[in-house]
Amino acid sequence: MRTPHSRVPRPVVPLCLALLLAACNGRGGGHEDGVTIDLDKAKAGPAAPLPTIYGSRDASRPLVVLDPGHGGHDPGAISPFGDRREKDVTLAVAAAIKDALAASGRVRVAMTREDDRFLVLKDRYEIARRMGAQLFISIHADAAPQGDGARGATIYTLSEVASDKEAAQLAQAQNGADAVGGAPAGAGAGVNRILIDLAQRESMEVSAEFANLLKREASAYFPFRSDYHRFASLVVLKAPDVPSILFETGYLTNAGDAAYIESAEGRKQIAAGMRSAIETHFARRRYGVTAAH
Ligand SMILES: [Zn+2]
Repeated sequence: MRTPHSRVPRPVVPLCLALLLAACNGRGGGHEDGVTIDLDKAKAGPAAPLPTIYGSRDASRPLVVLDPGHGGHDPGAISPFGDRREKDVTLAVAAAIKDALAASGRVRVAMTREDDRFLVLKDRYEIARRMGAQLFISIHADAAPQGDGARGATIYTLSEVASDKEAAQLAQAQNGADAVGGAPAGAGAGVNRILIDLAQRESMEVSAEFANLLKREASAYFPFRSDYHRFASLVVLKAPDVPSILFETGYLTNAGDAAYIESAEGRKQIAAGMRSAIETHFARRRYGVTAAH
């Protein structure tokens, strides 16, 4: 989150006719979690090989894509306690969540990166889209100015309007991590835009439900900020058809948070809380319960 701001246009993705009709009929596009409008994934993403899927071998089980933030030449925040880099912390936390989900076996799980490499923001969520994921979780660790005293986890979901100044600053810094250009709007983009907006709106609602559920399920395992759910226009959350959150595990600038996140036991607890929320989320959606109360 220490990179300069650059404006990144929202992606414009072509739709195939069959899926467009399915959308008009209010019929599902293949997602069992209730995301009813599917988009043409085949034309949307990079041709890079897709990551390994862990957990259940049953392809009908929901797929969660974990995205360890930063990587490669982008270290993210640096902890003042031992100079630990955010990119390493996020990878370790994501791996712990992946292991917990795989051991449980109720869902399938993949990671956008399993080593120290750089991925542009759009490629991160395009991996989730190409894999047909039903949930995308970008993992980060926060940093606050010296003396701020901030601690605890925060969940961000997508909104064009930031919920507060800190959320706006996060979006500005995060979105500057790469300078990927979106596809120019071509013929028919108006219709596509409407359908993409509809899909995006449903994804945003599911994302917000999951944010509340995560707070409820994981509070027993690790602390959240009092204003734990924030909104920001984060590029990495802009897959129109995959519910997405950005999870800040805590503050690397807080001694207690940093020690917790960097310990194997702390990561295990974060993973346990996340696993509980993810499995409850999909159980709710499977049985048609949509409110996280
Ligand atoms: Zn970050």
